[in-house]
Amino acid sequence: MGRVVVLGSLNVDLVAPVRRHPSPGETVLADGMDRYAGGKGGNQAVAAAAAGAGVAMVGCVGSDEAGRAYVGRLGERGVDTSAVVTVEGPSGHALITVDDAGENAIVVVPGANGEVTWERVGAALGDLAADDVLLVQLEIPFGTVGRAARLAAERGARVVLNTAPYADLPPEVLDLADPVVANEHEAQLLAAAGAAPGSLLVTRGADGAEWGDVNLPAVVVDPAEVVDTTGAGDAFCGALAAALADGADREQALRAGLRAGAAAVRHRGAQSRPDL
Ligand code: ATP
Repeated sequence: MGRVVVLGSLNVDLVAPVRRHPSPGETVLADGMDRYAGGKGGNQAVAAAAAGAGVAMVGCVGSDEAGRAYVGRLGERGVDTSAVVTVEGPSGHALITVDDAGENAIVVVPGANGEVTWERVGAALGDLAADDVLLVQLEIPFGTVGRAARLAAERGARVVLNTAPYADLPPEVLDLADPVVANEHEAQLLAAAGAAPGSLLVTRGADGAEWGDVNLPAVVVDPAEVVDTTGAGDAFCGALAAALADGADREQALRAGLRAGAAAVRHRGAQSRPDL
């Protein structure tokens, strides 16, 4: 069984409930604030570890206390953090207000995630082996994503590339991935940009997911049990990568992703909310 090597973001989510979002220039009071571990990289690493894979996280946190706390939490979840680099300055943060109607407003401060350069993390990917799966998303500099994908391909390791949040990538980088994982919105943006990755997996929320000629329905969740869809995509990607690292075929890997995605919508938050 290979490892899942996750190259991506580590964000500290600060979540404040407000009665309503402020208008420009206005100040509103929040009813409190919670601090959670988030970011697509960290979320997917935790999901892959929960699915039973050996997981190594490659990324950056800041020199603040929140960054140290995050690394500690990843370790508690069974993720190898020896390739998480601490850089001077703040960790990545997501400032999230949630109003009474459940609507979010989010400001992302990339912080240390913007410092995930090849110079900082390239060496940590030097031990990628043919049976490993490299799992990447787009909350870190795209140049690093491209170089990592090329290195993985040279080593014969599978690349799983989650195009979230959406950005235009060179076609040759997209073609290194097997699969590119996109939700319906991202798949539309790929098509609009004229991109047609050789291996494309589209997740369709409650309608399931499709990878090439394998099209499977979602695991049925009673709408009354759907409490929060945040992080369903991350849970899906982590579990999919874990299954692929374990030698699963397309259908088996899709099923693992669908199970994890369905489980994620039943609980609040992206990593079953480890607080920091
Ligand atoms: P998010 O941004 O909310 O984390 P996403 O937009 O990246 O998610 P989706 O396609 O919405 O991705 O969901 C990913 C997967 O999660 C789906 O393919 C499905 O397996 C599962 N999922 C999402 N919503 C539901 C639901 N209501 N019932 C069952 N499974 C769901």
